[in-house]
Amino acid sequence: MIDNIPLNQIETEMRASIAQVQANIANAAKKAGRDLSEVTLVAVSKTKPLEMIQIAYNLGIRHFGENRVQEALTKIAAFHPDDLVWHMIGHLQTNKARKVVSAFDIIQSVDSLHLAQTLERLIAEEAEESGKRLPVLLEVNVAAEASKAGLALSDVPSVARQIATLPHLEVRGLMTVAPQVEDAEGVRPVFRALRQARDQLRSELTSCVELSMGMTNDYAIAIEEGATIVRVGRAIFGAREPV
Ligand SMILES: *Cc1c(COP(=O)(O)O)cnc(C)c1O
Repeated sequence: MIDNIPLNQIETEMRASIAQVQANIANAAKKAGRDLSEVTLVAVSKTKPLEMIQIAYNLGIRHFGENRVQEALTKIAAFHPDDLVWHMIGHLQTNKARKVVSAFDIIQSVDSLHLAQTLERLIAEEAEESGKRLPVLLEVNVAAEASKAGLALSDVPSVARQIATLPHLEVRGLMTVAPQVEDAEGVRPVFRALRQARDQLRSELTSCVELSMGMTNDYAIAIEEGATIVRVGRAIFGAREPV
C-alpha cells in the first residue's frame, strides 16, 4: 500500500501512464523523422517511494532520475540492479560530491568548472576505481533565468573544453531545464538553442552527443527539436506533493 492505495492498483495506473508516455515519444520521433532508439526515457522518481520505482522497473523502465542527494542515496543503496542507470539531475553542492560520485551512473547537472574539478579529484582518489570515467552532462541555463542553476550559453564552449581535459570525466552532452510557460510551444527556441550549442561542440568533442531536454509538459516538443534524453516525472508517477 502507498497512501492507502494497493500496489496492484498503482501498477495498473503506472502501466497505462508509461504506455502513454512511450506512445507520445514514438509519435514525436516519427513526426520529426527520427528513430525511436535515439531517445532515452528517464523516469524522474524524486519524492516518490521506492515501491513505485520498483514497479516502473518491472514495467521495463531502466533509467531513473533524482534531484536530491540524500533521498537518492537511500534509494540507490536499496535498489540498483546492474541494468538500472541512476541519473543525478539536481543542483549539486561540491561538499556532497563524494557520495554522488560513487552512487550515480551519470551526472546531468554539472554547472561549473569548479564542480567538475571536484568530481575529477574525488574519482581520481578512489584508487581502486581509477579506470572509471564518469559520464557527465553540462547543465545550461539557456533562458538566463535568475532562479536557475546552469552555465550561461556563451560560457559552454570554453567550460566544456576545460572539462573535457579531465581524465576521469566524459562530457557526454548538454542538459537544460526549460522555463515554465503556459504554452509549451514557447520553449521551442530554448530547445533549439541548446541543440545548436551541442552541434557546435560535437564538431570538436566527439563524445558530446546527448541532449537532455523535455519534461512532462514539453517532452514531445523537445524530441522534435532533437532531444536524446527526456526526463519525465509527473506523467509517469503522478503529481508530486508540494515540497
Ligand atoms: C522534476 C524534474 C523533472 C521532471 O519534471 P516533471 O514535470 O515531473 O516531468 C525533470 N528534470 C529535472 C531537472 C527535474 O528537477
